[in-house]
Amino acid sequence: MGRIGKKIRMKCFRKMLSDFILNSISLSSEELFVSKIYKYFNNDVLDLVFDRDGFCGVKCSLPKDYNDPYELFLGMDLNTPPELLAFYYDVISEIPQSPTTCFSYSPIVSPMWAHYANNHSGFVLEFDLEGMQEYFEGNPIWDVTYRKEPLEQLKNILARAVETLKPRHSYDLQEAVFVESYFSKYVDWSYEQECRLVDLKNKTENIAGNDILYIPYEFITSIIVGPKFPDDKVETSKKISKDAGLDWYELKIGKSYPKPYMIDFDKKSFIFNNSNIVSSEHCCTNCSEPLEVDRQLCAWCSITEAHKNDAAMKNPFRMLNQIGKLDEYMDAMGKVGR
Ligand SMILES: [Zn+2]
Repeated sequence: MGRIGKKIRMKCFRKMLSDFILNSISLSSEELFVSKIYKYFNNDVLDLVFDRDGFCGVKCSLPKDYNDPYELFLGMDLNTPPELLAFYYDVISEIPQSPTTCFSYSPIVSPMWAHYANNHSGFVLEFDLEGMQEYFEGNPIWDVTYRKEPLEQLKNILARAVETLKPRHSYDLQEAVFVESYFSKYVDWSYEQECRLVDLKNKTENIAGNDILYIPYEFITSIIVGPKFPDDKVETSKKISKDAGLDWYELKIGKSYPKPYMIDFDKKSFIFNNSNIVSSEHCCTNCSEPLEVDRQLCAWCSITEAHKNDAAMKNPFRMLNQIGKLDEYMDAMGKVGR
């Protein structure tokens, strides 16, 4: 296809996108009463993220840089006849490359802390979803859909577009391709609980070769530093939370509470209830770790000196040791194991 043809198609694509975004609310999580979204950072960007007064700057990337090859192919079943695939790739190649930034619906995804927040030494920022949607109106903030296989429907939409060559059917195809390429991922990534903001309205600024989206303080609600956040940066993080009016938390990995939890300045415990960070209803009175049921102490803090002594007394290895038979027993068991 000639350059003019491409230009026309690109123009159609942009027009389609703005209509589509205006009319589309079904892809947002609003109806699920999700009110917060989270972004994970390495600790070395703390100063950079809060470099501009009154804003937090988040880095965006282009789909061609962040989509792994599988994702690009995900949209289409490769058993599709070559003439249809050719048409599909022609459409794909015209998807505008808009800066995109990723968020998660949860601040306690351990693999995310490991990958994106340098092994629990980074931090997470919490944003007000509704405020962001209003402020960045026209830029979709939509859920990523996790797929095992390409969307069956897309094949039909493609076949129809090729068969009829009607602009309306090409329009449907572009719409579907846009959603698939920006908002679908292979199912292995579903633990990320991701949503993405796509900057179709040119709100990002190019700073030293990076596309940065500046989010005003009023839409940032909390900062959560990791359990291994560097000591020399804790004060900076607290100062930022004060200046920007954010709640400050430190993530904790519990001994008995099954999920990561948080403590605030006053060491009060908070948990993530799958939509918000809330004060923990029940806490251990000794270690202040959250409890799932109403009791005084967590399982570990309930162990008394008497329990420990009793356990030691009953330990069969200790008994064997007392009669000088422990080494002999261990050797014999080792041989059995081999
Ligand atoms: Zn405890």
